[in-house]
Amino acid sequence: MEIYLDANATTPVLPQAKAAAIQAMVEDYGNPSSVHSTGLKAKALIDGVRARAQRLLDTGDGALLFVSGATEGIQTAVLSALNALRGNLQAEFLLYGATEHKAVPEALKHWNQVLGLNLKIEAIPVDSQGRHDLAFLRQHAARAGLVCTMAANNETGVISDLDGIEAALAGSKALWLVDGVQALGKLPLRLQARRIDYAPFSGHKLYAPKGIGLLYVRAGAPFTPLMAGGGQEGSLRSGTENMSGIAALGAVLAALDDGQTLRDSATLHGFRARLAAALSEAFPGLVFNAPLDLSLPTTLNFAVPGLSSRLLQDLFDAADVRVSAGSACSAAKAAPSFVLQAMGLPDWQAAGAVRLSIGPAVDEAFIDEACARIRACGESLRRHCLSPENNFPTVGDGITRYMQDGACCYLLADSLGKACVLIDARPEQVCRLAQALTCQGYPLLAVLSTTGEAEHAEARDLLAETIGELMPGAACDALGWPLDKAALELGAKQLTRAVRPQGQVLLFSGADSAAPALAFTGLSEPADLGACVGPNTLLAPARDEAQQVAYCLAGAEPAQEQESAAQQVQGAQLKAFINYHPDALLVDVREPYEQFLSQTPDLVGAQMEAMPLSRLLNAIQPWLAEQPQRPLLFFCRTGNRSRQAAQALTRLGHSQAWTLAGGLALLPHSPAEAQAKHQPDPALYV
Ligand code: PLP
Repeated sequence: MEIYLDANATTPVLPQAKAAAIQAMVEDYGNPSSVHSTGLKAKALIDGVRARAQRLLDTGDGALLFVSGATEGIQTAVLSALNALRGNLQAEFLLYGATEHKAVPEALKHWNQVLGLNLKIEAIPVDSQGRHDLAFLRQHAARAGLVCTMAANNETGVISDLDGIEAALAGSKALWLVDGVQALGKLPLRLQARRIDYAPFSGHKLYAPKGIGLLYVRAGAPFTPLMAGGGQEGSLRSGTENMSGIAALGAVLAALDDGQTLRDSATLHGFRARLAAALSEAFPGLVFNAPLDLSLPTTLNFAVPGLSSRLLQDLFDAADVRVSAGSACSAAKAAPSFVLQAMGLPDWQAAGAVRLSIGPAVDEAFIDEACARIRACGESLRRHCLSPENNFPTVGDGITRYMQDGACCYLLADSLGKACVLIDARPEQVCRLAQALTCQGYPLLAVLSTTGEAEHAEARDLLAETIGELMPGAACDALGWPLDKAALELGAKQLTRAVRPQGQVLLFSGADSAAPALAFTGLSEPADLGACVGPNTLLAPARDEAQQVAYCLAGAEPAQEQESAAQQVQGAQLKAFINYHPDALLVDVREPYEQFLSQTPDLVGAQMEAMPLSRLLNAIQPWLAEQPQRPLLFFCRTGNRSRQAAQALTRLGHSQAWTLAGGLALLPHSPAEAQAKHQPDPALYV
């Protein structure tokens, strides 16, 4: 069962909203502009929904238009305000809160340019709590033409001080837009009691479908229609109305009114406190990125020292808990959140942020399950040495790769001899490495650098401070190589080195092999390596922005490697693929902390193996050596890591490596779940 904790991105549709939408599509399908009975029925529906919304939002004699969503509402408001500012010589600035949703500054830029106004667009700074700098606003208010501030922030849930903003605008002729998207159903907005000129809302943030929203326009505020045409909405917004959306929104507003379906603020505060407690327990050291007492009771934004936002997202997703990194729009990029940067939070917090948000329809049982899953995530971290406290002891063996912003660090461990070697550690990784090394408990034979970078030496010093008892005793050179040793023994294998102008190449060989099986190349160019490695030696780079994992001299040139697309299997073809390749091995390249949490997906009875991407170097050569080569189908959560693995194998000469396109995310876990996904129960899906 999926636990959906991403309500600030969007929500499922309430069953009663779905029923109302279907009714409007199938039964009451009239065009509200038609004067016959079917049309009149539709018109009555619109009027009823509008009247309810006007009452709930306390719009007084202001206009309330149905629009497609907040983005359209924002465009309409900005166009209206800017059109009215033409020729206004007092207006110098267009101001917007620094943490505003992108739709606002982008609309300001767009219409400022289209209308040729050339007003200065300035962000109102926010403080470390995410609240607007009112002194800045007071200073600029007299020369502002339009001021845009959100009621509550989508990433942090921080509630704006609208009374303070209104006071700061006293005496100013500026128009005021308040983005009410995240406040709808969660905060009383009292629109007519404030001097707010425009307020956009979006239905899909509160259990209505996508494609329906509202725009409030104060009576007397300037207005220019964005869309001209058939004169619908009193000619303020032409185009035949989205009747199913309006009907669904009406059902949601009725649910807001009935006092039963949606939880009140006190209940939601209680729920959030429980979620916050579960998070703090699961992730010792966790920090909340916004003050809880100033935020919506439905939003938690946090970061955990030493754990990236991507790792946390993978972890939650494996537990079937959907959370988001920063805002949904920037989820594809690992860029730090601009909202948290604007609040002046340290980089690690802004880049490592995770947002957890609930909708007001959640119930006690849902929160119980969410808390249990969060605790299970903490348990998985402890079992895999990723928690600052109470980790389980583990056996380390073979090669593990740790990535940090494209740089690769390698840990080589031998479980029989209980010894290990660390290559190219960076200071930011020390915390995580120290945890892993402590859980494993093997002494380090060396802490090496292939490149001689100062960061590697810094990491060695930091490790010595943290886990001094495991550090090598012997004196070493600047690259960490022990002065008294020509080779480092790791069980049946040994590590030797070839010193190069740019550092050292570390050669990992079996006792009897002529060429090393594997080499850690540092920054050496392929031409430099020729003398010390064989054509099929697996080469593990110091940096891997291109996500190659490994390459060899006999393989293609790096430029072509990018192009070598791995063969893809679509989820729908999986069964056919396995029928066709009954000997195929399905390789789960997710990390162990994810595998621990997720039930083994039902991949139609195929043979499976867990080989996390971080450990792939251990498996590549055995797979390549198999005769005949066995078909390999890699899978992960999204298809990204499995694509890297399949591409690496293909490039290295494997003839039958495949990736499951789109990953497990696109694969229904079971027929029952596939069914459940199409019949959302708000208690499960909120
Ligand atoms: N404003 C805020 C605060 C939002 O959270 C969003 C959506 O994330 C929008 C505006 C844009 O809404 P829509 O994409 O529904 O038009």
